Amino acid sequence: MLKIYNTMTREKEIFTPLEEDTVKIYTCGQTVYDDVHIGNARTYSSWDVVIRYLRYKGYNVFHVQNFTDVGHLTDDADQGEDKIEKRAREQKVNPWELVDKQIEEYWHVIDDLNINRPNITPRATSLIPEMIELVETLLEKGYAYEVQGNVYYDISKFNDYTKLSRLKLDEESAKARVDQDPLKRNFFDFALWLNAQKGDQVHVMRWNSPWGEGYPGWHLECSVMAMKYLGETIDIHGGGIDHIPTHHPNEIAQAEAATGKKFVRNWMHAEFITLNGKKMSKSLGNYVTARELIDKHGGLVVRMGLVSGHYRSAVDWNPDVIENAKKNISRIQNSLSLIKDSPGGSNTNLNQAIDDVKKVFEEAMDDDFNFPKALAAIHEFITKINSSLDNKKEILDEAGNTLLELLGVFGLDFTKKKGVDDAKINKLMDLIINIREKARKEKNYELSDQIREKLRAVGIQIEDKTDGPRWKLT
Ligand code: AMP
Ligand code: ZN
Repeated sequence: MLKIYNTMTREKEIFTPLEEDTVKIYTCGQTVYDDVHIGNARTYSSWDVVIRYLRYKGYNVFHVQNFTDVGHLTDDADQGEDKIEKRAREQKVNPWELVDKQIEEYWHVIDDLNINRPNITPRATSLIPEMIELVETLLEKGYAYEVQGNVYYDISKFNDYTKLSRLKLDEESAKARVDQDPLKRNFFDFALWLNAQKGDQVHVMRWNSPWGEGYPGWHLECSVMAMKYLGETIDIHGGGIDHIPTHHPNEIAQAEAATGKKFVRNWMHAEFITLNGKKMSKSLGNYVTARELIDKHGGLVVRMGLVSGHYRSAVDWNPDVIENAKKNISRIQNSLSLIKDSPGGSNTNLNQAIDDVKKVFEEAMDDDFNFPKALAAIHEFITKINSSLDNKKEILDEAGNTLLELLGVFGLDFTKKKGVDDAKINKLMDLIINIREKARKEKNYELSDQIREKLRAVGIQIEDKTDGPRWKLT
């Protein structure tokens, strides 16, 4: 029986989806103004393991994860700027162009880390009419009010606004760093819709609405995207722990006020990665990008590092994480080679070990996805395999397949050919692309076209973008 820790009740609860075999899950996705850092990547890897395990258990999982491409302000109190517009201005590019580029980068990272792509990945900007509709409903029902082209949610109208966060709002507002926005009735009211005109600045991404030209608030976007694709009540909603105080209470307030139904049955929150003890975040500027680590160590090593700790325990990202990941990977690769090279014997004792590892692995994962305990079971199994190479060949093969299957739940794919890892491929492609660029600069188009065609023949496509060439597998 699977138990999941539900942040709403602060308890592990037996998991039963609303529909017998189907799990509907929504996870808060990337605000696409910057590269994926290793903290984001850990949260996405954790959800990937959760989903893979649910599928391993036979559930049909439907996963929606959004791209926030407008409306996420630099400040939770709605006083700041839109992160995407701010970055676009700094880089002197159009915000839509920045978003496109970041989404492309995002997929490269996700694929390199072997994170399964969600079933649907909507961009917030693709559902503006639905967002306007939800704001209208909240206004009609008396949960929202309009001031100067902004629409705010009045949290005093929603019963039990703090049921998820368990915050004492009086104390929180007293220690808050910003003054109350004069347009708001209560300190913790939040923007559903924002006026595109702020001072003499006009928001580039803007839409017509009953309240004038504007754009949606970040919290509104997630409620709309979740309900649009998953229905009014969803089984699991995930996000980092930073969403417990504000973003997720706001999602609940919007959805439940509009529908009168429970929005989420299980709230899951992933702990943060810290860097030298400090929260790793894009806004603080202290972060390591997933890309730089993948290029240096390969996707498999980084992925191993990311899933080694419990999703509800904080991890400090220090050099030991990568070193341990490398050691563990070598140990697994070594055992798989031993299995392959062994001629086998007549022993059969590994049969028991195969049953045992599955049982211990499942017990660990059923207990709120205890990643370290499940990985420890796999390592014990490896020790057993290494000392049981005299088992019958078919039993050894089954042990190898079991190992691959359980590692696969962690998104650790050991079926790729040894020696060909992402880091090496990336380096090789950089080299080839540089040679082609040099040829193009020297107007040697015969050579540059030849390189492009030869790569196309082996399933690699080069695209010449405004900021330089890119490659992808076709
Ligand atoms: P953002 O792009 O900032 O909206 O974050 C995308 C996802 O990454 C959200 O689920 C965040 O909660 C999560 N996240 C942000 N920073 C970290 C971190 N340092 N460690 C783990 N998860 C994080
Ligand atoms: Zn969200």
